[in-house]
Amino acid sequence: MTAEEASFETRAIHAGQAPDPATGAVNVPVYFTSTYAQSEVGVFPFADYARVDNPTRHALEVCLADLEGGAYAVTFASGLAAEDALLRTLAPGDHVIVANDVYGGTYRLLTRVFGPWGLECTPANLTRTDAIEAAWRDETKLVWIETPSNPLLTIVDIAAVAEVAHARGARVVVDNTFATPYLQTPLAHGADVVVHSTTKYIGGHSDVIGGALVTNDEQLAEQLRFVHYAVGGVPGPMDAYLTLRGVKTLAVRMDRHCENAAAVAEMLASHPAVASVRYPGLASHPGHDIATRQMRGFGGMVSFEMRGGKDAATRLVASTEVFTLAESLGGVESLIEHPGAMTHASVAGSELEVPGGLVRLSVGIEGVADLIDDLTRALDQVSQA
Ligand SMILES: *Cc1c(COP(=O)(O)O)cnc(C)c1O
Repeated sequence: MTAEEASFETRAIHAGQAPDPATGAVNVPVYFTSTYAQSEVGVFPFADYARVDNPTRHALEVCLADLEGGAYAVTFASGLAAEDALLRTLAPGDHVIVANDVYGGTYRLLTRVFGPWGLECTPANLTRTDAIEAAWRDETKLVWIETPSNPLLTIVDIAAVAEVAHARGARVVVDNTFATPYLQTPLAHGADVVVHSTTKYIGGHSDVIGGALVTNDEQLAEQLRFVHYAVGGVPGPMDAYLTLRGVKTLAVRMDRHCENAAAVAEMLASHPAVASVRYPGLASHPGHDIATRQMRGFGGMVSFEMRGGKDAATRLVASTEVFTLAESLGGVESLIEHPGAMTHASVAGSELEVPGGLVRLSVGIEGVADLIDDLTRALDQVSQA
């Protein structure tokens, strides 16, 4: 059975993870080493230095490439370090079209780090081809998709955007953090590169920060490897180990995340304190049909707007007990947050500002009845106050 023929679940556990040839260890060992002995100048068994490569990190890269259907993966110390490496392959004067509800940290990186360096960026509604065409410039080199987006859960048709971008000679990147390769493989829909914050669902246990880039484009992969090595935003061996351990259970965790999130979204949609729910699995979601085509499931993230606006949202996020008030997402435990004041505070006052009444849930894999009870009690309490 070759890796290509095996199911996602099998590849997640075995791709890049053959028993250690030296000892038979079933788990890929954590290779705590900064350098490697050479038998003579220029002759080394694996790599010359651990910034260049590390066997634990290598196993993770082989596995992530396989799961995304890519030939090359490069892992980083964080999702933003991965994004930084990708943007360094552009040049001053180049232009990027970015989703107008992209992750706040991505927008901050583009505008406040790469802006002064000379990179131009235009936020656009990527659900509309005419908006992409209107934002287009001769210098446009990259279109930055995030689907589902954080925190508004907008669904973008990857194939449709890729068609527009490729016709004009630009590349397409998809931030696949919310969906994970279990639910969506953007390269198969025409994307040129996938970016991940592996901190979230891929790691899955809220115990490690990491990022990854995956591509089939050999020339881009070479550029990314060079930046990886020359700039050095690499993950440590323990980070790679924890992330790889998370990957093994990605499929079963995502199934439960999807199931629990669908139940929570339905409850929210019928609660009088809630004005609107954003969950791609609801038939009322404007991207529901595209998500049904493009994704294997709708994910574990749910956002909703409180009728009582910012005040009600702020009180709600402090009133739950099973849902922990915290930033981040994608771990086994349920989290609740107020994007306007927390994860997306950096885009306040910009055209990416999120509604004040918006609440974002990362629905975990606890018992779904406990999650629904917790939220219902907190919503009742806020709406009665
Ligand atoms: C968290 C996140 C990032 C940034 O990743 P870090 O690992 O925190 O650096 C990028 N994109 C999305 C969609 C995220 O949720």
